[in-house]
Amino acid sequence: MAVSTLRQDPTTRQWVILAPRRGERPHQPAVAAHPPQPERDPSCPFCPGNEGQTPPEILRLPPEGPDWRVRVVPNLYGALGEGGPPRRSGSPMFREMPGVGSHEVVIESPRHDARLDEMSEEEVAEVVWVWRERYRALIARPEIRAVVVFKNFGPLAGTSLLHPHSQIVATPVYLPRLLRRLDVATRYFDDNGVCVYDDLLAAEREVRLRVVDECGGFVSFEPFASGSPYETWILPTFHQGSFGDLADEEVDDLACILIRTLTLIRRACGDPDYNLVLYSAPTNGHTDEVFHWHIKIIPKLSTPAGFEIGSAMSINTVPPEEAAERLRAARQLA
Ligand SMILES: [Zn+2]
Repeated sequence: MAVSTLRQDPTTRQWVILAPRRGERPHQPAVAAHPPQPERDPSCPFCPGNEGQTPPEILRLPPEGPDWRVRVVPNLYGALGEGGPPRRSGSPMFREMPGVGSHEVVIESPRHDARLDEMSEEEVAEVVWVWRERYRALIARPEIRAVVVFKNFGPLAGTSLLHPHSQIVATPVYLPRLLRRLDVATRYFDDNGVCVYDDLLAAEREVRLRVVDECGGFVSFEPFASGSPYETWILPTFHQGSFGDLADEEVDDLACILIRTLTLIRRACGDPDYNLVLYSAPTNGHTDEVFHWHIKIIPKLSTPAGFEIGSAMSINTVPPEEAAERLRAARQLA
C-alpha cells in the first residue's frame, strides 16, 4: 500500500494529502465528553428569563409574546460591529479601517440542553429560516462584502457557551476562502459553461461511493479531496448560487438533511465537536450562475499541526470513501 495519495479538490484546486497509515499512529483522537445539561441554567445568558443579559433583539420567533423559540442578538463580544463607511486609512504598508460589519448570535432554542441533531424538523427549520432572513438582510447592506453563517459545537470547536447557538458575521471586506472558490468556479464556468458544483454533484451521485444521504433537494457527501476525517458537505442538488435565494419550501428539506447528517456523524464518530460553515455567493453580479452555496461540517477529530497551519495543505488520515461507508452504516444504529 502506498504511503499516501494526493487528491485535488476541483472547487478550490487545492491538493490534500490522504495518508491513512498515519491514522494508525498509537494515539487516538480525543472526543470531548458532552455532559448532560439542565433544561434551564439560571446562570446562562441565553436561557429564558435572562433576556436582559443580551443586547436588544434583532429578530425573534414568534415576534410577540413571552415564549420565544429562536432569538437573534448582537454578539456581546463581537468581532465586528461598527456602523459607517469602511474607510481605509494609513499608507499601503500600514493600512487599516474601522471594524465595520456585524456579529450576531442565533439562539437556536429556549432549551439549554437542546442540540440541533435532537431538535424536531420544525424547530431546525425555524433556525434555517432565521439564518436565511439574516443572510438576506446583511448581504443587502452596501458596506457588506460577505456574510458567514457558522456554528461551533463543543469546546474543541471553539465554543464558549453551551446553550445551543450559531453565529453570523458580516464583513466589510472579501474573504480569501470565498474569493478562491468564486475564482475557481468562475474559471470553470468560463471553460465549460456549467457550474463546477453541478458537475461535481452529478459525478458523486453517479459513483455513489462518497454519498451519505439525500433529503428532498439536498445531498450530503464526503468530498473526494476531503481535508480532514469525516469532513461532510451538504448542497442543494438543484443549482442555487446564493443561500439568500433558498425558497420557503426548501427550508424543511435543508433542516431534514442537517438533522440526519449530524445524527450520523454523532453515531459514527462518538459525538465529536464540530464546526459548520456555510459558503454562499454574494447576491450580485455573475456569481449566481457560477457558484453554488454549500455547507461544510468539519468534525474536530484531528488537530492541524505545524505543516497544515504553515502550508494550508491538509493531511487526512481517513479516506472519504471509508467515512461515507461508516456514516451510511450508522443509519441502522438507531
Ligand atoms: Zn442556557
